[in-house]
Amino acid sequence: MANATAKPPSFSFTPEGAAKIRWSRRGSCGRRGCTDRQCCCALCDKPIGVAEDDPRWEDHEEMDCDGCELCADRVPIILFKGEGKAMDQAQFHLACFQTILAPAGQ
Ligand SMILES: [Zn+2]
Ligand SMILES: [Zn+2]
Ligand SMILES: [Zn+2]
Repeated sequence: MANATAKPPSFSFTPEGAAKIRWSRRGSCGRRGCTDRQCCCALCDKPIGVAEDDPRWEDHEEMDCDGCELCADRVPIILFKGEGKAMDQAQFHLACFQTILAPAGQ
């Protein structure tokens, strides 16, 4: 699997996957690990990322880390739909997002 980027350049969803996305008008506050529903994953409804004041960060060596549980969703995947006042957005855990991607070449 290629290393994750926050915004895949092109992708398409499976029809079932697209139907599961919970779009939100307000959008997220941008804090990692926020439990507000608008800030949670649009697929699994769980908070994305680990809050900065989580005690687990104290033992975390950022320099040596190449993707642990704490770092996995540091940068959530955010999608936008529509324009202006009618714009909806949805954000995802990387792992959740990958479950709704259509296989390449379809
Ligand atoms: Zn929030
Ligand atoms: Zn999720
Ligand atoms: Zn880490």
